[in-house]
Amino acid sequence: MKTRLTHTFAPLLSALRAWAEQRHRGLGVVLVLLSLLGGAAYALAAAVVTLAPDVARLPVREVTESVNPLPLQPQLAALEIHRYRLYRSDTSRANDTADTLLRRLNVDDPQAAAFLRRDPLTHRHLLGRTGRQLSAEASESNTLLKLVARWSPDDDGSFQRLVIEQSGTGFQSRLEKAPLTASIRIAAAVIDSSLFASADEANIPDAVAIQIAEIFSGDIDFHRELRKGDRYSVVYEVLEGDGEPLRAGRVLSAEFVNGGKAYQAMWFREPTAAQPEPLEEGRPTRTQGRSGYYTLEGQSLKRAYLASPLAFSRVTSGFKMRFHPILQTWRAHLGVDYAAPTGTPVRSVGDGVVEFAGVQGGFGNVVFIRHRNNHVTVYAHLSRIGVRRGQRVEQGQNIGAVGATGWATGPHLHYEFRINGRHQNPLAIARNSESVPVSPAARPAFTRLAAVARQQLAAAQMLALR
Ligand SMILES: [Zn+2]
Repeated sequence: MKTRLTHTFAPLLSALRAWAEQRHRGLGVVLVLLSLLGGAAYALAAAVVTLAPDVARLPVREVTESVNPLPLQPQLAALEIHRYRLYRSDTSRANDTADTLLRRLNVDDPQAAAFLRRDPLTHRHLLGRTGRQLSAEASESNTLLKLVARWSPDDDGSFQRLVIEQSGTGFQSRLEKAPLTASIRIAAAVIDSSLFASADEANIPDAVAIQIAEIFSGDIDFHRELRKGDRYSVVYEVLEGDGEPLRAGRVLSAEFVNGGKAYQAMWFREPTAAQPEPLEEGRPTRTQGRSGYYTLEGQSLKRAYLASPLAFSRVTSGFKMRFHPILQTWRAHLGVDYAAPTGTPVRSVGDGVVEFAGVQGGFGNVVFIRHRNNHVTVYAHLSRIGVRRGQRVEQGQNIGAVGATGWATGPHLHYEFRINGRHQNPLAIARNSESVPVSPAARPAFTRLAAVARQQLAAAQMLALR
């Protein structure tokens, strides 16, 4: 098993390293298969791989499902060494008190509890704060030796570390700031019920699932088109503090197979252009090259139109129409209905100018946006309108909120796409809208990275099929 895997991954490994060196200069990369998922994962066809630095020192390591029992004596010897230290980790919760927090970490120490209750740093940064990574070190009698909480409040490449430590005289606390380190993960999943359910099963963070939906938002309407059996692979960064994952980073490449059709994406930054981009009115000058997601053939995935006027989220993905839709297809209905809770933000699918914003018959509160080439989009039944007539809007800009005004029997967005007054299938328009290719100057670099992305995505798929 191990030989086979090592062999299979050998060419990939060198490619990964070449690629990683482009991104994180000086870092090697090693492929480490984690036993994160165990047997259940195979049934779910989901797997995660971590790529950590320092290939020279760490060989390819595999944790297999079945473990041969070791002889008793070495185990006892090993236990002896670690006898005086118990390590536990957990995550802080919003309703944590000093006592519940220590109890969850299996620490039984009234002095420590008393310290946590009166320590200002603990009050400000830990108690009542949700989602902080905790690691505790306790003595064999479960008294606290050290408690560390880690979290990354800002997107500035750093994390905070609150250290509470027992010294000879009692407990002391200190707050530190340290840099996050990036590691790369590969994951793959098959959709059974929803995108988020599949992400949960594969240990993929929400932030990554949402990025995937955004990356392919020109091609796939994640609210309406996902099917059971759709699958995806993703390569993404995880930002870690002291080895603990604290933040999901950027998706580097992804493949999504929707209804049997595969879509691929890779993040790419064009090398800093010698000729700066022309200044567009009202926008800041770009200091770095243009960056974004491209197909592996080098077409930008940013289109003139988004496939869906609603951003994908856990809330919108789980919200079903509780009323009977009168007409279901855009042909008969002249539009597309999106069920979503009242108040869900509605975004303009493209750049344009607000042509109408107000109340209009069965539409209730409605916004019409005129785009180039006599294209008009319509957003109806809104609970709130956030734009005025004549206002310029950009793609993705919030223009109002989902509601049930006009002829609507429940909260939903009625969305139309018209060209010269004639109704069109919005999704077909989005898919066919123009996109920009990578510049000729950046082509060679792009082609090299795309080859690596192909290998990574293939590796991710292989993991999913194991
Ligand atoms: Zn409708």
